[in-house]
Amino acid sequence: MTSGVVTRFAPSPTGFLHIGGARTALFNWLYAQHTGGTMLLRIEDTDRARSTPEAVDAIIDGLTWLGLGWQGEPVSQFARAGRHAEIADQLLAEGHAYRCYASPEELTQMRETARAEGRPPRYDGRWRDRDPSEAPAGVDPVIRIKAPRDGETIVRDQVQGDVRFPNADLDDFVILRSDGTPTYMLAVVVDDHDMGVTHVIRGDDHLTNAARQQIIYGHMGWDVPVMAHIPLIHGPDGAKLSKRHGALGAEAYRAMGYLPEALRNYLARLGWSHGDDEIMSTEQMIEWFDIADVNKGAARFDIAKLEALNGHH
Ligand code: GLU
Repeated sequence: MTSGVVTRFAPSPTGFLHIGGARTALFNWLYAQHTGGTMLLRIEDTDRARSTPEAVDAIIDGLTWLGLGWQGEPVSQFARAGRHAEIADQLLAEGHAYRCYASPEELTQMRETARAEGRPPRYDGRWRDRDPSEAPAGVDPVIRIKAPRDGETIVRDQVQGDVRFPNADLDDFVILRSDGTPTYMLAVVVDDHDMGVTHVIRGDDHLTNAARQQIIYGHMGWDVPVMAHIPLIHGPDGAKLSKRHGALGAEAYRAMGYLPEALRNYLARLGWSHGDDEIMSTEQMIEWFDIADVNKGAARFDIAKLEALNGHH
């Protein structure tokens, strides 16, 4: 019997499993373990230019070394492009989306005008109510979602609380490109829905995306999963985390002889804590972990702490 909780780790295979990705995977895994649910793995390989099979292998090896198992076969997002296009067509047929024929020059012009007028550089909806018979010949359109124009979209986030986005800032974003390929925004929603994901735990760089994704959920009449956007990890100096802080891929720590349980312990405490407990066994982390206890502020990476924990495990 499982609890029905389904989490997922959804990396883009463009490089090694880095600290941020490993921590996201760990939080998804811990939450699934804690609730008696399951974690799924989805490889977000729709960006064909940047995705590589080596990166897929590195991510899978890194997760395996860290002991973060998932259920079933990893899902390839790219392989699901047909399903994504089907949903775009459904949204179109139901009047929730429309074809847009604006040229790249027009779009640039639109953004410049908006900027000059002190507005955010958003698509102005010019094809939203236009008669399709006005479509220019020989132009392959994109498909845009009809986003609400007034009011706000509220993301009810387990970590960040209620986050409000004025709908004017979300605009009629593209769901299907002119070559028929889905955008990230559409693919994630369709995949999370089809995979039965109940909890989306990911970096807070995806918070605005969550608001846009909610618009798609709303049009499809699908339940929005529970959202938990975890703050990014910074270096000890507060700057963007990088190699110079000692932040490496899982592979590199493994090669240097770090123990997976030490890295798990360290990653768990990057943005989550349990009283004063620093050294925790995996069983304790599973017992104690809860999304509600994830900190709102950015976590700071400290290689010395990782080294110290490595000595304790
Ligand atoms: N593929 C995205 C990334 O690696 C994550 C998308 C998501 O979790 O929804 O940043």
